[in-house]
Amino acid sequence: TLPDLTLSTVLTSVRFTLGWYTARSYALIAGCTVLIVLLTETIWLYARLARTTVLLRRERANRLMSLDAATGAIAHEIAQPLAAIATGGSAILSWLKRTPPDLDEVRTSAIAVGEASHRANEIVSSVRALFRKTDDRRNLIHLDDVAREVLDLLQHDLESSQVSVATEYQGNLPPVRADRIQLQQIVLNLVKNAIEAMSSVPSGSRHVRVVTRLNGNSMVLLSVQDSGHGITVEDQDRVFDPFFTTKPTGMGLGLAICRTVAQDHGGNLRLVETSSHGSIFEIELPIGSTVDGLSESPAASGQ
Ligand code: ADP
Repeated sequence: TLPDLTLSTVLTSVRFTLGWYTARSYALIAGCTVLIVLLTETIWLYARLARTTVLLRRERANRLMSLDAATGAIAHEIAQPLAAIATGGSAILSWLKRTPPDLDEVRTSAIAVGEASHRANEIVSSVRALFRKTDDRRNLIHLDDVAREVLDLLQHDLESSQVSVATEYQGNLPPVRADRIQLQQIVLNLVKNAIEAMSSVPSGSRHVRVVTRLNGNSMVLLSVQDSGHGITVEDQDRVFDPFFTTKPTGMGLGLAICRTVAQDHGGNLRLVETSSHGSIFEIELPIGSTVDGLSESPAASGQ
C-alpha cells in the first residue's frame, strides 16, 4: 500500500505518462498479488476444515463399528458354550426322568454344564478385556500348548467331521506374552473355519495341519492348513472384513476379531496361501520377554 500511495502521489500528476502507467501497473500487480495470496489462504483453510470433518466422521464411524463388533463378538464367541449349557440341561432332565434316574449321567452332564458356563464367563471377560486393551491377563505362553489345548477341545468336532489332524511343533519354541483365552480363540476359530471349509470335500481327503515354528529371531508362527477348496480371488481381500461371511449361519466376525487380537499382541494374522487344494492361515506373534516369572512348559513335541 505504501509504495502504491507514494507512486500514485508522485508519478500520477500527468495522465498517460510513463510514471502514470508505472503507478497503475504497480497498483494492478500489487492488488492481484494480495488477492491471490488471500484466495490461496482461504482455499487452504477450507481444505483443512474439510479434511478435519472427514476425519471426525471416520472416527465416529470407527467407534460405532467397534461397538457393533464388540456386541457381535460376544454373541459369536458365547454361542458355543450356551448351546452346550442348553444341551446339558435337557440331558439332565431326560436322565432324571428315567426310573430309576441315572444319577451318574446326571452328574457328568452337570459337570459339563458347569464347565461350559465357566467358559462363557471367561469369554465375556476376555472380550471385555480386549476392548479395554489391558495387559493384566497376559502371561508367557507356548504356542504349542495353545494348539494342543484347542485340538483337544475340538477333538469331538474333528472326529465327527472325519478330519485327520497332523501337527508339527518346532522343539524349544520360545514363549509369547499373551492372553491364553484370546490365543485359544484365534486358533479355535482357524481350526473351526478349516473344518467347515472341508465339509464339501470327500471324507477321506479332509486334512488339517497345524505347524509352529520360529520366524527369525523375534517372531513365532503358528499356521493352520486345510485341504478345502480354498478362497476365491475376490474373497481373499474380504475374509478379514467384519461381517463378511459366505456361510448361511456365519457372522463373519471370527477372522476380523482374531486379526485385531493378534495385532493387539504386537503380531498379525494372515492368509498366506490359498488354492483349489486348500488354504493356510498364519498367526505371527513376537517372542515374549522372560523377565518376569516364566513357568516353562514341557518341551514341544512333533507328531
Ligand atoms: P464366519 O466363520 O462366521 O463366516 P470368519 O470371519 O471366521 O466368519 O470367516 C469369514 C469367511 O472367510 C468365511 O465365511 C469363509 O468364507 C472364509 N474362510 C475363512 N476361513 C476359511 C478357510 N479355511 N477356507 C476357506 N474359506 C475360509
